[in-house]
This record gives sequence, structure tokens and C-alpha cells, in this order.
Amino acid sequence: MSVILRAAAVSDRGRVRENNEDAVHAGPRLIAVADGVGGGPSGEIASEIVIRTLAEMDTDPPPRSLAEAVAAANQRLREAIQADPTLEGMGTTLTAMLAHGDTLELAHIGDSRAYLWRDGKLTQLSRDDTFVQGLVDQGLISSAEARVHPQRSVVTQAMHGAVIEPSYTSVTPRPGDKFLLCSDGLSDYVDVEAIAQTLGSIEDLEECARALVDLALAADAPDNVTVVVATPEF
Ligand code: MG
Repeated sequence: MSVILRAAAVSDRGRVRENNEDAVHAGPRLIAVADGVGGGPSGEIASEIVIRTLAEMDTDPPPRSLAEAVAAANQRLREAIQADPTLEGMGTTLTAMLAHGDTLELAHIGDSRAYLWRDGKLTQLSRDDTFVQGLVDQGLISSAEARVHPQRSVVTQAMHGAVIEPSYTSVTPRPGDKFLLCSDGLSDYVDVEAIAQTLGSIEDLEECARALVDLALAADAPDNVTVVVATPEF
């Protein structure tokens, strides 16, 4: 058995930012969201380089392992910075899901997120590389407090062309599952109940992705907001 993904993506600059530093890919074998950081245009460059490299995995069979693709993307960031030192400091998050055989492999670094909606329940598949997640893990604050913490945007790990420790996990998909990848422009401003309700109530993937972005826009979307909604096909 071999699984593929049916996916829809929407990315919006939001109501405040003048550029969109998020980048996204939604294909039959790979979905990915990257949220760039850096001065000037460099955040956009970083997320674009990483998504373009990961998109090479959207073939059957994939040309290399997901971990190799992440390492290659990080290497390309390093080369871009070496070629143009003004790009020093640029980086990006990455949350990517690859259909491989009968499983879905997930690679994650930074604070973009992956969720699984299954049987009416929403589960976060990724763990944020953030300062506040560290506080949650130590039992010092709750997840709800983390969402409004003044230092919630402090990311402890991202792709910068230097040494990285991404996390990898895999999921065995079931019929009816919905997967959501999103940048923090969604998850920081729209609560999980509203996300779950939207995933559960809108069948059309394009419409569902649009509705999620609209929730962020309705919350004044101070950040760029990007979502991919996908279902497995067997
Ligand atoms: Mg963001």
C-alpha cells in the first residue's frame, strides 16, 4: 500500500506585515511550511531556499531520505550566506510531511506546527522549539499561558546553515484523517478549539484552508499566516 496526499495551501501576508516571509509547498507526496526570519528580504530568501529544496522530494520514489533533504536545504542556506554575507543571520523554521510507502514522515524545526485531526480530536504532532515550550515542559507555565507569554516568539532552534537538530517522527495515516501544517501566524492567534472545529466542519480542503487563514485575519493577523490542509488517499 502506498499513501499519497490531497492537499490545499493558503498563505497570506496578514494585516500588518509588508512582505510574506512564509513559504509553502503542497503536492501529492510532500507538504511543507517554512517561516523565515532575518533582516530585509533575507527571511523570504531563507524560507524559499528551504521549501524549494524540500519540494525536490515530491516524486515517487523520493530521491533521498527526508533527513538528507533537510540537511541539503540547510547546506544551501550556508552556501547562500557564504556567497552573500549580507544574508548572515537569515534563517527559517521548517515543518514538512513526506508520504513514503504507507507512512507519513514528519520533519520539524522551529515553531511552525503539524496537527492531526482524527475522529473529531486535534493532536499536535510537532513540539515547538521555543523558550516558552521549555517552560511548559518544566511545568512552570500552562500551554494557555505560553500562548500569551511576552517571550512566546523566542525560537530556540531554526535552520540557519549551521548545526541543527531537527526532530523526526512518523504517522500511520487512516482514512478520514486531516493533517494541518501552519506557521505561527495561525497558531499564535487562533485557538485550538476553533482550528479543530474548522477542520471538522469544512470538507473541501481549499475552503477549509481559506477559513483557517480568515480566522487569523479576523484576529488582525499581525504576522504572515500560512496553512496546508491535507488528507491521505490510499
Ligand atoms: Mg511567523
